[in-house]
Amino acid sequence: MATTVQFTAKDYKADTHNNWCPGCGDFGILSAMQSALAQLQIPPHRVAVISGIGCSGKTPHYVHAYGFHTLHGRSLPSATGMRLANRDLTVLAVGGDGDGYGIGAGYFVNTGRRNVDFTYIVMNNAVYGLTKGQASPTLGRGVKTKSMPEPAIQDGINPIAMAVSAGYTFIARGYALDVKYLASLIAAGIRHRGTSFIDVLQTCPTYNDLMTKEWFESGPSNGSRLYKLDATGYDPKVHDPANAGEVVAKKVQAVERSYEWGNRIPIGVFYQIELPTYEDMLAQRQPILGQRARVDLDLTRRDVTPLLDALR
Ligand code: SF4
Ligand code: MG
Repeated sequence: MATTVQFTAKDYKADTHNNWCPGCGDFGILSAMQSALAQLQIPPHRVAVISGIGCSGKTPHYVHAYGFHTLHGRSLPSATGMRLANRDLTVLAVGGDGDGYGIGAGYFVNTGRRNVDFTYIVMNNAVYGLTKGQASPTLGRGVKTKSMPEPAIQDGINPIAMAVSAGYTFIARGYALDVKYLASLIAAGIRHRGTSFIDVLQTCPTYNDLMTKEWFESGPSNGSRLYKLDATGYDPKVHDPANAGEVVAKKVQAVERSYEWGNRIPIGVFYQIELPTYEDMLAQRQPILGQRARVDLDLTRRDVTPLLDALR
């Protein structure tokens, strides 16, 4: 039976002027998000996009949906609260590498432990773009971009390996300029029940002259350094979540692949497991916590004490 297409990618485009630099990889990520929402036919009024601070922080302004531009590193707790208050929303948290792995690192770890059902997309360009290209937590030791006076003296972190140890149940990496493939990863992340984490290799032509389109798309033998995990027969899924041995083996496999860098860089889904969501577990304890956005406020009532008691 044919599915009726009600929404196209342009239905998720806001009229707001976009002031990202020309050629910025963020445009590809934005297009992939809009394409994924259209693929899944999610009405714009059922979507919320939450951001922190940085170039990525502007994303909610460019999506025709609910949006919240929060404080630096705070997109994850805000997305958590929004999703728990209203289960009818498809929540997309977005942020940069500095925002999510630096300022918001504590939230990054604890969000993985919770498994609230939303999707977290990180625009990872290895620099703090909005503040003129300082080294971010993902820039490697000894690397110097054009905005830095000296090479970095600290090692970069590995976001995929961090996500595995934090407990994320869907972990993927995309490339900003392969919009079609990235859209498929975002759609898979939205479909997954639980917190989906997608680290996106993003080109910043203004401040990062190392992770460029040319660098990503040329390898030692003139081919792309990027390769798709699913094209190699890699299986990211834990088929029996109750089998501790399989869970550990799939985590080790994901971490090993995540350390491939240089001439061959994997993109795709690294790890996926179906586990109860935080909402599932809360609903068992206190069913009212799942219904906050549905509470009848009854504003004509003068004494709101019973309502506040019910929400405690
Ligand atoms: Fe994009 Fe870099 Fe410009 Fe920010 S500074 S908008 S990340 S190109
Ligand atoms: Mg950045």
